[in-house]
Amino acid sequence: MRVVLVAVMVLLLAAMGASRAEVTGDVGGTVDVGRFHWHYAYHLVWDGEAVTVRCTIHLVPVGGATRAEVDRAAEAWRRYIDRFWGSFYRLRLSDGPAVAIRFDVRFAAVAEDNEVTVWPKERPEQSVSWSVRSPPLYIAHEFGHLLGLYDEYPGGAVDPATSLIDATSIMGAYPGPNARPYPRHYEAIRRWAEDHIGAGPVKLEAVGGTEAK
Ligand SMILES: [Zn+2]
Repeated sequence: MRVVLVAVMVLLLAAMGASRAEVTGDVGGTVDVGRFHWHYAYHLVWDGEAVTVRCTIHLVPVGGATRAEVDRAAEAWRRYIDRFWGSFYRLRLSDGPAVAIRFDVRFAAVAEDNEVTVWPKERPEQSVSWSVRSPPLYIAHEFGHLLGLYDEYPGGAVDPATSLIDATSIMGAYPGPNARPYPRHYEAIRRWAEDHIGAGPVKLEAVGGTEAK
């Protein structure tokens, strides 16, 4: 009997600890710019140690693509997106500690936050229309649109407020191997962290310790 009681208490304490530490938020909206229009949604989770960007994407095979080939491509995309978007920046709280920004993409075969059609043959990628042949780097760009980000190349879905064009950015056209994200791409995440964790301003800094430009 005593053993059971102790076990129950340990479980209760663990549950209390978990609920105390975790803060979650939902981010989403619709981007409308010229002929471009898409919906995006993701979740932010602060667990006391890192901020995780959790994004679930419903992949819908179309045009004869099979579930198996879509799932195979998805596994490579998932690994690439998580590493790419999660390896450049972290947050710095005003009272000192660094907080990692992690990405946790989840592809699902059932309706989820975001819906993307997947084609069997190569075709120009769009925010919610990919192909099983799409290179992971291009999908990292399309994933940027599922964070609500604009294109940064002429003729794309450019931010009407800034008209920003940047060929070195992951949001440029046909990003090359040196393409990268910039602090502006994490601004919604930084702002959420500032509103929900710690007290005072939260900065974004490059992993490695240098101040982000
Ligand atoms: Zn794009």
